Amino acid sequence: MSTSQNQQIQITKAATTKINDVDFDNLTFGSVFTDHLFECDYINGEWQTPVIKPYAPFLLDPSARVFHYGQAIFEGMKAYKDDANAVWLFRPDENFKRFNNSASRMAMPSVPENVFMNGLNELLKLEEAWVKKGNGSSLYIRPFMIATGTGVMANPSDNYKFMILLSPAKAYYAGEVKVLIAEHFSRAANGGIGAAKAAGNYAAQFYPTNLANKEGFQQVIWTDDTTHTKLEEAGTMNVFFRIKDTLFTAPTSERILDGITRKSLIELAASEGINVEVRPVLVAELVAAAKEGTLKEIFGAGTAAVISPISGFSYQDVYYELPKSEDTYASHLKEKLTNIQNKLTEDTFGWTVKV
Ligand code: PMP
Repeated sequence: MSTSQNQQIQITKAATTKINDVDFDNLTFGSVFTDHLFECDYINGEWQTPVIKPYAPFLLDPSARVFHYGQAIFEGMKAYKDDANAVWLFRPDENFKRFNNSASRMAMPSVPENVFMNGLNELLKLEEAWVKKGNGSSLYIRPFMIATGTGVMANPSDNYKFMILLSPAKAYYAGEVKVLIAEHFSRAANGGIGAAKAAGNYAAQFYPTNLANKEGFQQVIWTDDTTHTKLEEAGTMNVFFRIKDTLFTAPTSERILDGITRKSLIELAASEGINVEVRPVLVAELVAAAKEGTLKEIFGAGTAAVISPISGFSYQDVYYELPKSEDTYASHLKEKLTNIQNKLTEDTFGWTVKV
C-alpha cells in the first residue's frame, strides 16, 4: 500500500487489484465492488480528513445508533465511459442535493459539496478501469451515511460516517414485470420519510413485496396511504402510465421520491413531442383505461434499470394484461436517455458532467 495526499484527501492504494477476477459480461447488479472506497467521518460536529482506502469491512460499536434507530441514508447514481475513454456522471448535482435533503429529514449533518464531489471524482479517477464502455455498461455509485455514535438513547447521533462505494453494472433487464396495486400496505405517508432515500423505507417494502412475489408479482405499485386510490411509485422506481398517446406520472410529494430519471424523462419526452401530464393518476382511471383498451404502457423509471416496462397489473384480484408492442414510448425513451448517458449522442440538455 502507498499513501499520498490529494486535494486534502488521504489516499491509500490497495496492494493488488481484483479487476482481473471479475466477469464483466455476467454481473449481478450491486454484488461486486471495486478495489477502493471513499470515507469521511463526522465527529463532534466536524468533518474529518476524507480518505480513499482499500475496500474492506470495518468495525462499529454494537450500540452504534444506525443499528438501533436506523439513521441511515443513501444515493444511487452511475458513471459512464465514452469512446475516448473519458468518464462521465449523469446529473450528479441532483444526487448531491437529494442526499442532503435526505440527511436533513433524518436529522443528520449535511455533507459539504467538496467532500461529496471531490471524493467522488477522486475515487472515480482511481477506479477508472472499472468503468466499461458501451451502451448499458456503467459503474453504479452508492454514496451513503450512517450514524456511528454510541449509546442506545433514542436521539440523533453525534457521529456519522459518509462513504462512497462503486459497483460495476451491465444493462439491467428485470424480465417480465407483473405488478400488484397496493390496497392495504403503504410505502410512505404524509409527514413521513417517503421523499428521503432513508434505508428504512426500503426495509419497510420488503414484507409487502415478498407477499406480492408469492402471488406471482415481481413488484408492488404503491398507492397513497390514506385512500389507496392514487398511483404513486412502482417498487423502488417512479412510475409512468401511457393512456392513448399521453404519458402520465404523479407529481412528487412528501410520499414520492423526486427521481432523477423521472424528471429527465419528463423533459426528454416533451422534447420528443410526447404529451406528458404530471398530475395525480387514479387507480380507477387505470382500470377504466385497461378495460377500454386505451391503456398502452406502464413503466418504472430509476437509475438502476433506467426504464422497466410492466406487462400487467392486478387490482382487487383482477389481472389486467397490457398490450404487447415493439414500438413503445418506454423503448424509445430508454434508447434516447441511455444514448445521452453513454455519450453516444449529443447531450443537448447539459446533463452529463465530465470527471
Ligand atoms: N423511487 C424510489 C423509492 C427509489 O428508491 C428510486 C431510486 N433512487 C427512484 C424512485 C428513482 O430515482 P432515480 O431516478 O433518481 O434513481
